[in-house]
Amino acid sequence: AHLDRIRAVDDDVRAFLVVDSDGALDCAQAVDEHRANGEQLSPLAGVPLALKDVVVTRGLQTTSGSKILEGWVPPYDATITRKMREAGIVILGKANMDEFAMGSSTENSAYGASRNPWDLTRTPGGSSGGSSAAVAAFEAPIGIGTDTGGSIRQPAAVTGIVGHKPTYGGVSRYGLIAFSSSLDQAGPFGRTVLDTALLHEVIAGHDPMDSTSLDVPVPPVVAAAREGAHGDLAGLTVGVVKELGGEGYEPGVEAACRAAYAKLEEMGAKVVEVSCPHFGYALAAYYLIAPSEASSNLARFDAVRYGLRVGDDGVRGLEEVMSLTREAGFGPEVKRRIMIGTYALSSGYYDAYYGQAQKVRTLISRDFAAAFETCDVLVSPTTPTVAFKLGERVDDPMAMYASDLCTLPAPLAGLPAISVPAGLAPAPGGGNDLPVGLQIMAPALADDRCYRVAAAIE
Ligand code: GLN
Repeated sequence: AHLDRIRAVDDDVRAFLVVDSDGALDCAQAVDEHRANGEQLSPLAGVPLALKDVVVTRGLQTTSGSKILEGWVPPYDATITRKMREAGIVILGKANMDEFAMGSSTENSAYGASRNPWDLTRTPGGSSGGSSAAVAAFEAPIGIGTDTGGSIRQPAAVTGIVGHKPTYGGVSRYGLIAFSSSLDQAGPFGRTVLDTALLHEVIAGHDPMDSTSLDVPVPPVVAAAREGAHGDLAGLTVGVVKELGGEGYEPGVEAACRAAYAKLEEMGAKVVEVSCPHFGYALAAYYLIAPSEASSNLARFDAVRYGLRVGDDGVRGLEEVMSLTREAGFGPEVKRRIMIGTYALSSGYYDAYYGQAQKVRTLISRDFAAAFETCDVLVSPTTPTVAFKLGERVDDPMAMYASDLCTLPAPLAGLPAISVPAGLAPAPGGGNDLPVGLQIMAPALADDRCYRVAAAIE
């Protein structure tokens, strides 16, 4: 049924780069056979999924949205791919994304943008916009994204679905094509909080193949989603972050979030305002740290080891082939990030830029620590605006970067955060009302708190 749905709508939505019909049907059939044999199966066995193309899949092309990896078929599975296959999850195909996860709209994909199913002239967010569009368009009930600065939560918010960025180290990064290694985390999308939690439990847990993976129990997110659904939040203190709202935020977004805060209060939570004075510097710090790490991570695309090779005529030298390949294979945003990152890391500028950004990162972590002394969770809008029009921000990188104002602090501090639908707001420029996301942030390893509050709001 989902393959039929993809055939019916994906020419418009363009969520998928590759649809693996045969692989999906084989997997579904294998699950049926296990079930017929009376075997004990995981709760998501047989459930179809859209997988962001940054996650490697053995035997299935993986491009990370880039021309430089066009045609690359990985010889191995990412740990999360393996875990999903073992749980009997049916991988329908690889979902579109901004090239190397750099962007907020999928417009940086080398393969063209995905569209928001609520309004095909608007973006489904990014960088995991293919996965969010697929789930919102009923092409898949669940999906996987990755979040470095907001790329799960922002697309979830603007397509009206649930998306969670786990605590850093909670989900293995082995087999994720690296963008910014100290920030990247894979996480689940779903149309309900419980679906999202069930997928979280499948992918989470310690992995010896990832040196930053935490060797601790997986937070009880499914139990928390079930508990939250009862709508009793007595004893919980919710902090509304003062700095994540006000000027530059659409009135409809603010109104929907204020209504959600009132609902939390009705369910017994104590709602207070908190100040996190350094959150205003998150954007500047992020756009030094993430490009710095990217400039190093992307050095592996050297025309020798993977994918594209341009100008290898037996006469040109290695350096020239490398530079022709990177010139042709990387898109403009990726080149911009490599240049910013290389500059920020260069001798003479390192302390002024990269070193300074790392200090700001520490101050943001301290803001969180202070707020969590009095609050159990922190809340804000997930995004300052509803889904914007395709083309609206492509020529203005600063406007595009501002899409992530609210989502950047949590990953800089390694903390978990979820986006859950919180009603609709008017569409600037006309058209149907569009979804608003509420963001719920929690201390490290307290992912279950995000799910509990999200399930109460849902
Ligand atoms: N939009 C942000 C960026 O372009 C975040 C991307 C992400 O989380 N992968 O870097």
